Amino acid sequence: MHSIPSNSDNEQRSAKKLLTEEYLTIGVVRCTIEKRIRMSQCYRCWSYNHRINECNGPDRSKHCYKCGENDHMAKYCENLEKCPICNTIGHKAGTLKCKAFRTALTRARNEEKKKQLQTTKRIAH
Ligand SMILES: [Zn+2]
Ligand SMILES: [Zn+2]
Ligand SMILES: [Zn+2]
Repeated sequence: MHSIPSNSDNEQRSAKKLLTEEYLTIGVVRCTIEKRIRMSQCYRCWSYNHRINECNGPDRSKHCYKCGENDHMAKYCENLEKCPICNTIGHKAGTLKCKAFRTALTRARNEEKKKQLQTTKRIAH
């Protein structure tokens, strides 16, 4: 006896496809979040834990971003690199050499991860 051709093969295939698409979408979201984290430095005081509209720090927006002094531009800077956030010579603010920057980045990543887990759970239900 011939069995009636069933659709179960097709159904399985489309289910697999759906899973792949969902995974890809999550991947794209993850990339966007990574980009946003890297750009979340305050333009005014150069610290990392707030946005410019929440800033209570000193206005460094016209300071030399290489050494943190306010009497010249980075283009004409002859000083050593200095980070005014951790007051340390040898690196600029907003780079991975900066310990405060790495701490802020890790914290921001963990917060985004938490948020993302909640979003993923919502999708799954
Ligand atoms: Zn600020
Ligand atoms: Zn300078
Ligand atoms: Zn630093």
